[in-house]
Amino acid sequence: MTVIPFPGPSGASAAEGTPLLRLQNVESAYGPIKAIRGVSLQVQRGEIAAVLGSNGAGKTTILKTISGIIDPRRGTIEFQGAHIAATDPAAIVRRGLVHVPEGREVFALLSVRDNLLMGAYTRSDADAVARDLELVYGYFPILRERAGQDAGLLSGGQQQMLAISRALMANPELILLDEPSLGLSPKLTKEIFEIVVRINRERGTTILLVEQNANMALNASDYGYVLENGRIVMEDSCERLREKDDIKEFYLGMKDAGVRGERRWKKKKNWR
Ligand code: ATP
Repeated sequence: MTVIPFPGPSGASAAEGTPLLRLQNVESAYGPIKAIRGVSLQVQRGEIAAVLGSNGAGKTTILKTISGIIDPRRGTIEFQGAHIAATDPAAIVRRGLVHVPEGREVFALLSVRDNLLMGAYTRSDADAVARDLELVYGYFPILRERAGQDAGLLSGGQQQMLAISRALMANPELILLDEPSLGLSPKLTKEIFEIVVRINRERGTTILLVEQNANMALNASDYGYVLENGRIVMEDSCERLREKDDIKEFYLGMKDAGVRGERRWKKKKNWR
């Protein structure tokens, strides 16, 4: 696959316009375990937004709650101005919001092409579906080469490409992308992120991604949220987040960010 230069953020910002997606005070739980609490965030049309957080912080739960897999206990979720909390997931897909789950979840025994067509199951516009198939083959030429093979035979990176492409086949306004770097080499992770940024710039698809790989996420995204123990503890443009000592020290692994970061991390209760 051709590696393109990283295009950089689109310049969209959370301060502009009516958000495409807005969560207010959302709480979700698994039985007695509250996984996310009081989560408020917004994603502007045309931007890439990222939720950063360590293992178990609640990132996946946020995405599952938005896409209707989990019903929130509290709070509101608006997409394109409509309230979608606790809506049937298929209805949310039809509204133009598609979730690429952690671990890809491709249909292993279906061909690559049939996996892609499954992504378009809500659509009846055959010509446009055929054009979108060409579009995704353009982004990921390996999928055209492997179109007739069982998806289960693809490598992890190729399955991630397929999962993103299957989401694109639904012609979405917003893609929720869960941990695209999971299990991939740094080189492959970079390639995948570069294509995600291209999809955002060229197709105008808005993206909300969750990631443990803060370096990649902060470079690719416009706006970022930091999640700790189910709560958002910091938010800012990714440009500014990259400069914060706490982020450098704990998420970017820059040990020389100084002890200031560690002190603030431990003491500060409200990071905004
Ligand atoms: P990871 O990066 O490991 O996927 P995450 O930030 O996405 O982590 P979540 O998967 O959202 O975190 O999990 C948040 C919390 O909810 C964790 O404490 C986790 O153990 C718990 N949890 C997640 N799924 C379930 C479940 N099905 N049943 C019970 N608890 C769960």
